[in-house]
Amino acid sequence: MQKILNFIGGEMREPVSGRYFETDDPSVGAPYALVPDSGAEDLELAVTAAKKAFPAWRDMPAAERAKALHKLADLIDRNKDAFARAECIDNGRPVAGCAAVNIARGSANLRFFADEAVTFTGEKFKTDKIESYTLPQPLGVVATISPWNLPMLLFTWKFAPALAAGNCVIAKPSEVTPMTACMLAGLANEAGIPAGVLNVLHGKGANIGAEMTAHPDIPAISFTGGTATGKTIYASAAQQLKKVSLELGGKNPTIVFDDADLNKAVEGAITAGFSNQGQICLCGSRLLVQEAIYEDFKKAFVARAKEIKIGDPLLAETQHGPMVSKTHMEKVLGYIDLAQKEGGKILTGGRRYIVDGRCKDGWFIAPTIIEGLPMTCRTNQEEIFGPVVTIMPFKTEEEAVALANNVEYGLAASVWTQDRVKADRVAAHIESGIVWQNCWNMRDLHTPFGGVKKSGVGREGGRRALEFFTEEKTVSRCI
Ligand code: NDP
Repeated sequence: MQKILNFIGGEMREPVSGRYFETDDPSVGAPYALVPDSGAEDLELAVTAAKKAFPAWRDMPAAERAKALHKLADLIDRNKDAFARAECIDNGRPVAGCAAVNIARGSANLRFFADEAVTFTGEKFKTDKIESYTLPQPLGVVATISPWNLPMLLFTWKFAPALAAGNCVIAKPSEVTPMTACMLAGLANEAGIPAGVLNVLHGKGANIGAEMTAHPDIPAISFTGGTATGKTIYASAAQQLKKVSLELGGKNPTIVFDDADLNKAVEGAITAGFSNQGQICLCGSRLLVQEAIYEDFKKAFVARAKEIKIGDPLLAETQHGPMVSKTHMEKVLGYIDLAQKEGGKILTGGRRYIVDGRCKDGWFIAPTIIEGLPMTCRTNQEEIFGPVVTIMPFKTEEEAVALANNVEYGLAASVWTQDRVKADRVAAHIESGIVWQNCWNMRDLHTPFGGVKKSGVGREGGRRALEFFTEEKTVSRCI
């Protein structure tokens, strides 16, 4: 069985305790690698290495730091097939999606933040008496904690701005999907990232994750994950007044008006609902369709969902792989049961899917569409995080907005209409951090990214991420 190692002070290291646990390949439903069960002793080693590396990394010109991050991005690209295969085995996303999204965005994140940091400077102010300037300065040793759903994309999204801004990082990927973070760490020395600048610790959130959030020498935590974990981290960080960025769950609406381009809207709702088996925080899991086109849209949407090719994620033609873990598959199946108890009617899917051959024991669930549920039921209120979309009609724009906003979450929404004025009006009234018009998950990395309500605290993306990982010092002098 492959063994994953921690990366501390520029070296691959066993956990101090010598303890490991197993991680699974969800497409075959069996363990395939061992993960360090890191604890406080490993964290101390990483904090010591990071503190030692910090002054030189902080004082290096941003352009020099950028060179190392670009080199790391080049190395990811050079090894992209190996990364895509490893991510596919670890996470279950079909290999084509891993290559095109998870891994491609991994290197793109590094390049983007490397370049952004070069032009990230302070501001100047002047009155008739004083002139002032600000210095954005890195915080020191910061922690990044990322989830399993887009392992490489979110791992790099968290640590790249921190490093680019001059911090040293202790990064913890999810225990469920640690492989590509370990591979990336193995390239850091070759990229010219000095020892101790990037440290990767593997292990369980409740152990090493909690140790990281409580450590007195770590002043900031950037977290992406579930809302419940976000609350725990927020409470822990509050004890020491740490800076916290929280990117949390979603229950996102897709709103289709009767003047929308039907084919494009169906395709958009399919992508929003079922990409990565519905395991993206931005997925559109509540589909609201205006009543005049409801039946036609529903028919086309269900027919299109049935065409999605489920199978071995290592095959290039597969579009829909397994759920990330057995526990998660059972959670999603539990929600499908609940939906039926709540009065929902399954239009397609609704069960575990058995793939013949190599993947016969894999944890697959077919794309599932459910009709007939009120917005207030648990199925429509709680984040399921699987290939499950509920569909319901609405009459008016006001009703659509009210239904969309009738949840505790507020991460993203997509609106489908050919009326630009209406699209802008709806965007202004939707309670979410992001609204897409006639598209879904189109990202410009400069734009602020984050949620409102229970979907998060703070904004990432572009300069916002660099602002999070720095403190601004004001310097003033009399004229
Ligand atoms: P979790 O909240 O379970 O875990 C996220 C990370 O936090 C993991 O690395 C986990 O470690 C770690 N962790 C768990 N408990 C603690 C703790 N007490 N202290 C510190 N760290 C801890 O989320 P999932 O991995 O299940 O990811 C799915 C969730 O992420 C969904 O809710 C999804 O919506 C959200 N998400 C949000 C995004 C956004 O940008 N808003 C983007 C992508 C996903 P371990 O895995 O070892 O338990």
